Amino acid sequence: MYLKSIEVHGFKSFANKIVLDFHNGITGIVGPNGSGKSNVSDAVRWVLGEQRAKQLRGSSMQDVIFAGTENRKPLSYAYVAITLDNSDHMLDIDFKEVTVARRVYRSGESEYLINGSPCRLKDVQELFYDTGIGKEGYSIIGQGQIERILNGRPEERRELFDEAAGIVKYKRRKVAAQKKLEIERENLVRINDILSELE
Ligand code: ATP
Repeated sequence: MYLKSIEVHGFKSFANKIVLDFHNGITGIVGPNGSGKSNVSDAVRWVLGEQRAKQLRGSSMQDVIFAGTENRKPLSYAYVAITLDNSDHMLDIDFKEVTVARRVYRSGESEYLINGSPCRLKDVQELFYDTGIGKEGYSIIGQGQIERILNGRPEERRELFDEAAGIVKYKRRKVAAQKKLEIERENLVRINDILSELE
């Protein structure tokens, strides 16, 4: 699996629609200070479901929408789509190519799409569990992140190893199953109460 392209429109400094195509091997993005290099990695974080404005170097989620310049009006929405080559089926979905997109409007409305079909944030998160690509993954290493990992709490470091070991989805399923079991236990207690009242 590898990142084939990123499409950005109205996201941060990218007022016009741009498409960055990547090929096998290493690609470097170079440019003067403030030209938008980090905005490209922010776009990838964002489309993967980042909900924390601070992680995207903003103060609110609306800050990702192109805010306008002296010569150009602000835009009303931001859109990012990434396309991944999935011919090795590392992503558990029956497509050789997977496009994940996210759009947000100034009004607050937003949507996620997987291969053009609207979906929930949860679907995007589940698609990337245990691949290292999710927003908590290690595929994007930001400035200062290595230091944070090394100095971080052991539980935080453990999360990273869990992701690399591919057990995150099982842990989440276990938590969901435990919650269901708890509800069923409570239901059983109630049924037993009703039964003893009837006897
Ligand atoms: P450096 O090399 O200094 O790290 P960079 O190339 O990584 O810089 P970025 O940090 O990606 O640059 O981009 C910063 C630019 O993006 C600034 O000029 C900022 O004004 C612009 N920018 C950020 N958010 C928005 C927005 N919502 N609308 C318009 N422009 C924005």
